[in-house]
Amino acid sequence: MSTYCSWRHTFFCLLVFLASGFCNGATADTCTPGPAPIRFLLSFDDGPSAVDPNNPTEKVLQTLQSNPYQTGIKALFFAQTRAVNGGGTEFGRALLKREVEAGHLLAFHTATPRHSNHRYLGEEKLASSLDLGIADLSSITGVPPKLVRPPFWNYDAHTLDLYHSRGLQMLLTDLSANDGIIYGINFSLTKRRNMRKLLLALRPRWCQNDMPAVDGVTPIVVTFHDINPYTARHLEEYLEILLDVARELEIPVAEKPFYDNRDELERAALARVVKDASNPPELPGIWNWFWSLFH
Ligand SMILES: [Zn+2]
Repeated sequence: MSTYCSWRHTFFCLLVFLASGFCNGATADTCTPGPAPIRFLLSFDDGPSAVDPNNPTEKVLQTLQSNPYQTGIKALFFAQTRAVNGGGTEFGRALLKREVEAGHLLAFHTATPRHSNHRYLGEEKLASSLDLGIADLSSITGVPPKLVRPPFWNYDAHTLDLYHSRGLQMLLTDLSANDGIIYGINFSLTKRRNMRKLLLALRPRWCQNDMPAVDGVTPIVVTFHDINPYTARHLEEYLEILLDVARELEIPVAEKPFYDNRDELERAALARVVKDASNPPELPGIWNWFWSLFH
């Protein structure tokens, strides 16, 4: 029992606690000995956006740099380097350069004109798109990317082997804003409830020291989409929500709640990659259920 019960309700709370382990919405037992505090590793998929004016990627970059919670947050951008409405444009490439110059980390998402599913591209096309994307990102950052995230979270053992053959490690996510734009719906009325639910589901793993600590903190990977204008407008609120729900769930957050150093961020991300296709981790939103229909 971890939350406060007034004396008037002590007896009632005790009964409730004994019956269910909860009192006034308490969440879970305290972890002893406590695992390393968490730090949120923010990642953004599908960008950059080439929309002008009111570019959502630019807005995301501004908020990461300047917000009430931590100045100069560094994030991981899974880029679409050849997207017709983004990374494949001059403006898009300039934004990718800006991300690198601002200290963020770039990684591979697609190098096709659209958001192609890697599993359905076929071996030859996927291999050549990986090579293309690696070349695109290397020309911007000066080093080949080390991380990949599959579009639609969809992969299999074969996809993973191809990634590994190109020196790419696959990172999925712990929390997701579920803000990929689906059929024109890009807003969320359940931002707080969704993040709380996902962090609550993750808490037992953190509590049991089942998540790696890197540089003294437990990285918690969070996924957004920087091409989503709603996300871009509400990113500051999302940062607050993450801090609030961690507090509510009694999960201590590191002194720096978010990453502010590209090398540390990369080390953390590499500690969380999926090594093989057996025992696949839970996917966000509906994707576990959806892809199970195709196996
Ligand atoms: Zn995507």
